[in-house]
Amino acid sequence: MATFDYELFVIGGGSGGVRAARVAAQTGAKVGLAEESRMGGTCVIRGCVPKKLMVFASEFSDMFEDAQSYGWDLDVGTFNWSKFRPKLHAELDRLEGIYRSILSNNDVAIHDARATLKNPHTVSLSDGTEVTAKHILIATGCYPVVPGTPGAEHGISSNELFLLDEFPKKMLIVGGGYIASEFAGIMNGLGVEVDQFYRGEQILRGFDDEARTIVAEDMVKRGVNLRLGVNVEELQKRDGGVWVKDTEGGEQLYDQVLFATGRRANTDGLGLEQVGVEIGSKGEVVVDEYSQTSVPSIYAIGDVTNRVQLTPVAIREGMAFVETVFHGNPTPVDHELIPSAVFTQPEFGTIGLTEEQAAAQEPIEVYSTSFKPMHHAFAGREDRVLMKLIVSKATRVVLGCHIVADHAGEMIQLAGIVVKLGATKEQFDQTCAVHPTMAEELVTMKEPTRTT
Ligand code: FAD
Repeated sequence: MATFDYELFVIGGGSGGVRAARVAAQTGAKVGLAEESRMGGTCVIRGCVPKKLMVFASEFSDMFEDAQSYGWDLDVGTFNWSKFRPKLHAELDRLEGIYRSILSNNDVAIHDARATLKNPHTVSLSDGTEVTAKHILIATGCYPVVPGTPGAEHGISSNELFLLDEFPKKMLIVGGGYIASEFAGIMNGLGVEVDQFYRGEQILRGFDDEARTIVAEDMVKRGVNLRLGVNVEELQKRDGGVWVKDTEGGEQLYDQVLFATGRRANTDGLGLEQVGVEIGSKGEVVVDEYSQTSVPSIYAIGDVTNRVQLTPVAIREGMAFVETVFHGNPTPVDHELIPSAVFTQPEFGTIGLTEEQAAAQEPIEVYSTSFKPMHHAFAGREDRVLMKLIVSKATRVVLGCHIVADHAGEMIQLAGIVVKLGATKEQFDQTCAVHPTMAEELVTMKEPTRTT
């Protein structure tokens, strides 16, 4: 029988890779992991964590305004990036340290190097060494894609945003997905003049139409200059900024242009094709329900497989992989009914089918209420809240739940449990309301707003 240096070698120290390495090592297996950049990956270093800290920072502008409406005398200043940035990076350094200790405390051998595949059981490392492993796990994530627009190299991606030396006064954000829309809210909240261009009809494509319309309208009320059906045509470096010509012929000078126009699997140059691993049309690693690739000793999890690109999903895929391979208990990954949040301002939480998807599938009842909540009404804010349930007429099961409100992410985590359990509308209604809250509407909507 062949002997290997490791039972498992993980390529990529992000959310999925670190979790899989740790839990595999806890079974007593000898595990190694290669990370070419910083431990923690996208989520910790250049994604969820720094973004959410910037969301927190940006929310103070509304809070300061509201505080004054609630009777506070305040002398409000402006956001100071040079104060915030070192604190942000100190926190990311701290978290990176925790990720490293999680691995070393569990006897995972860390290789600070880029890894490529040599054959189905051998990995070459950029420090010149080679290691062999019984199983290899690809967890290399994605990278941001910048379009081929002339002069696009003068823009930045979300990776660079957290590292800016100078904080912009005026910024263009290109894209309409959740990352673009979140950054539009963040930068607007921090006092930046923000234009957002999206070439489509409405931002947040794929989410519930009613919900994304409310999010977009409220973003505009808060000051984001959202221009739909518009794209960048050309960029030039000029006068210390970036000159942009748009597809409607307009011209503007910005301090920064952020492209949040999609992400692509990190598979280039990994050697996957040479060893026979099937790659999909978007560069993703093709896997089966157990995350196994077309080469039996090689598995892949997380963003690189382009299934559902979220941190908790990458983690669950890592856990299911270990359960399958190291506990001998074949465990497919459950990708059904995943709750998620978009940290736009207003925040948006969602699970299950959109109204449009459900209506295309079967007859439904829609329970939807949009209102000005108590907190905002008193503060004189215009933002509305949306509480929405999509119900199957045949089974009464709640097929989807969509919430636009402050803390919608927290709410959807809890509502998500109920929807995942397959609760019916009547079971929602059996639950007593918590008053006065916004979420009580989820259990008090008596008549359908629409039926199909
Ligand atoms: P990653 O975390 O990307 O880790 C991959 C790692 O592999 C990287 O560290 C990389 O350096 C390393 N690597 C790549 N190639 C090699 C190689 N050849 N050798 C060695 N190392 C290599 N998700 C949420 O759930 N909630 C959010 O709010 C959220 N916000 C986000 C905000 C932004 C701006 C971005 C960009 C993403 C966000 N995400 C969010 C998505 C989330 O970050 C990813 O889904 C998650 O990080 C995927 O984990 P992963 O392990 O698949 O890959």
